[in-house]
Amino acid sequence: MDAPHPGHRTRVDGNAAGGILLELFGRDMTSARAACAHCEREAELADAIAELDPAGVILLCRGCGRTLLTCLRDGGSATLVIGALSLLRWPADG
Ligand SMILES: [Zn+2]
Repeated sequence: MDAPHPGHRTRVDGNAAGGILLELFGRDMTSARAACAHCEREAELADAIAELDPAGVILLCRGCGRTLLTCLRDGGSATLVIGALSLLRWPADG
């Protein structure tokens, strides 16, 4: 298997973070609305810029490039680091 070297990041859109977000939140978060505390841009998480690396996913604001959210997986634990994210809103089920 071709493992990316450390520090290698692939820049894609927020849909690519769907898998890890689904694991962390237990639901599809790509359609959740996220607001940036820095530039006040509000958009679906799927619209954010996602940087994938072996440790997890970094979601960046498409408006100002600040880190909104970092999702990390390390063995048995998952970590969510809140960056410039000021709001996260998703439809409540039932
Ligand atoms: Zn922003």
